[in-house]
Amino acid sequence: MSRSVLVTGGNRGIGLAIAKAFAAAGDKVAITYRSGEVPEGLFGVKCDVTSAEDVDRAFGEVEAQQGPVEVLVANAGITRDTLLLRMSDEDFEAVLDTNLVGTFRAAKRASKGMLRLKRGRIVLISSVVGLSGSAGQANYAASKAGLVGFARSVAREIGSRGITCNVVAPGFVQTDMTAVLSEDRKAEILKQVPLNRYATTDEVAGVVRFLASEEAAYITGAVIPVDGGLGMGH
Ligand code: NDP
Repeated sequence: MSRSVLVTGGNRGIGLAIAKAFAAAGDKVAITYRSGEVPEGLFGVKCDVTSAEDVDRAFGEVEAQQGPVEVLVANAGITRDTLLLRMSDEDFEAVLDTNLVGTFRAAKRASKGMLRLKRGRIVLISSVVGLSGSAGQANYAASKAGLVGFARSVAREIGSRGITCNVVAPGFVQTDMTAVLSEDRKAEILKQVPLNRYATTDEVAGVVRFLASEEAAYITGAVIPVDGGLGMGH
């Protein structure tokens, strides 16, 4: 069955791989983007998740194009890495506003239609560092940890309506986000990955697709790592 899927930040990186994976499986896939082009074969809506009005308008456009969103993948995210003493309020708030509050805005808007349909899948893209912590990423790790409490609360609230809400926690994936890290830092991270390599964006997409599938109907409030073992024990 072809479902209406929306991936925030689906124009590049992990979000694009997720969007393509759903499209390849025959779903109707919309993505949000702020900059650049809409990838071929996907329906693009401009949206900055830091604005509730933007999120509402984007959902309206998606609903008109492909029907109410049955699968939401909240993937949009940013980093503003620096040590705590150097971290400005703006650095902290910008990351929380995009990664955590932006996800709240999208999930809240999506839940309206899902509650009416009495089914739905919400998948939030967190990070291994949400549970392990990461020096220089207090803002980012806080936002990603926040997603876990958020997802589990939502899972409890709307589970009885056939809606699941789960978290995927990738480890290190080579995208624009991680391209800015120094070679030394990348080598240091790699040393801690038991599988001794980075994840591909497709490996993250596969797990997201599984959580949105019928086979995963009894999984909710879970945090699924896709990290090569990097976060084991957390
Ligand atoms: P990229 O930097 O490649 O892509 C980020 C995406 O988020 C872009 O599509 C960007 O849109 C979008 N975005 C950022 N801010 C906003 C906003 N305010 N409103 C709407 N869209 C926004 O990152 P990745 O693909 O690497 O990361 C995707 C997700 O995966 C993020 O949540 C990230 O935290 C998480 N993650 C990444 C890991 C990695 O190693 N790469 C590891 C663990 C988690 P635009 O192009 O318009 O800027």
